[in-house]
Amino acid sequence: MKAEDQDGGACTRRDFFQSLFKQLASTAGSLVSPAAKGLVVAARAAAPAGPPRAVVDNALCFMGQGRPCDGCVKACPVSPKAVAVSAVGLSAGVNAALCTGCGECAKICPAKAIAIAAGR
Ligand code: SF4
Ligand code: SF4
Repeated sequence: MKAEDQDGGACTRRDFFQSLFKQLASTAGSLVSPAAKGLVVAARAAAPAGPPRAVVDNALCFMGQGRPCDGCVKACPVSPKAVAVSAVGLSAGVNAALCTGCGECAKICPAKAIAIAAGR
């Protein structure tokens, strides 16, 4: 939106923000508007990437597919373990606060379900 849209000419800062708030209120019906999504994507892209962390693809993890597996847990060298499995049917989960991004779990995973990615 351009500031000149108000009253066909230049407007005050107060006019500008009042108009902006009205527009935001008019889009409040949708939980996340496309414009807001765009802002979030832009903000994420602009933010510096965090340190690398293991990320589990739930669609590939054997545990999530009902096949017992704990290779990643056994391979994880940190203590307490940064990756855990709970029950067959639930994918392995990574605790980003503990994970160092060393990649040992990804190397051992028989399902190739773990990637090391920059955190956000
Ligand atoms: S090693 Fe791979 S397949 Fe096995 S539980 Fe861990 S992430 Fe899932
Ligand atoms: S990347 Fe390393 S520290 Fe993180 S979960 Fe995998 S084995 Fe553990």
